[in-house]
Amino acid sequence: MNAPDSVPESPDLPEANRRFETLPPEEILRWTVETFAPDVVLTMSFQHEGVVIAHMLRGIAPSTPILFIDTGYHFPETLAYRDRLVESFGFPVRNVRAAMPRAEFIARHGDDLHARDPDLCCKINKVEPMQSALVGVRAWVNGRRRDQASTRTGMPIVERIGGGIVKVNPLASWTSRDTWQYMNRHGIPTHPLFEQGYTSIGCAPCTRPVLAGEDERAGRWAGRGKVECGLHTFLDPAEGDE
Ligand code: SF4
Repeated sequence: MNAPDSVPESPDLPEANRRFETLPPEEILRWTVETFAPDVVLTMSFQHEGVVIAHMLRGIAPSTPILFIDTGYHFPETLAYRDRLVESFGFPVRNVRAAMPRAEFIARHGDDLHARDPDLCCKINKVEPMQSALVGVRAWVNGRRRDQASTRTGMPIVERIGGGIVKVNPLASWTSRDTWQYMNRHGIPTHPLFEQGYTSIGCAPCTRPVLAGEDERAGRWAGRGKVECGLHTFLDPAEGDE
């Protein structure tokens, strides 16, 4: 994937951030596509925010690839939800898997690495496949929101990360209510586990429903001192950009 001649290699991200704070996510996505296509991807795990962005992209740039990191540990409900939405909306989903075949992974690490060393499990099954999938990508769109966790409150809407990739967070200023209202307005079904208290849904062994009063992501790696899988931290923000 190469940059078209007419596209600036280095958009002014501080200026873009100032402008984007008052723009709807669709306009941010439009800018992203106009600036970086065809080197744009959306990553999502079929949580509601990713689904909302995929739905928005249908009307802007429907062939934008959607990467789903298939760790082998997703809930069956997540895989069924993925298949249902792909069938209903035609999302161009590409399943991304670890380079190490499943049988080899189990033989080397057992089937309980997530319990013994979740960082290594995430590295093998999420971070490394993502690193490979991002080769040649210039803009990485994702569905994080600032109010999901204390680690995300200062998140800009666009940020340059290692490797020169521009990470785009079009829903940064949204709340879960905004997400729910969008889905309701467009008739998008919710994840089947959402009604059972799963407000953030990752791999089955590392996700539980949240309890009353807990943060939205409190059910992820609960009690293990881990708050992020590493996907959003393996490439640190590039120095001096934000
Ligand atoms: S979330 Fe859990 S099961 Fe999934 S890759 Fe990370 S440690 Fe493994």
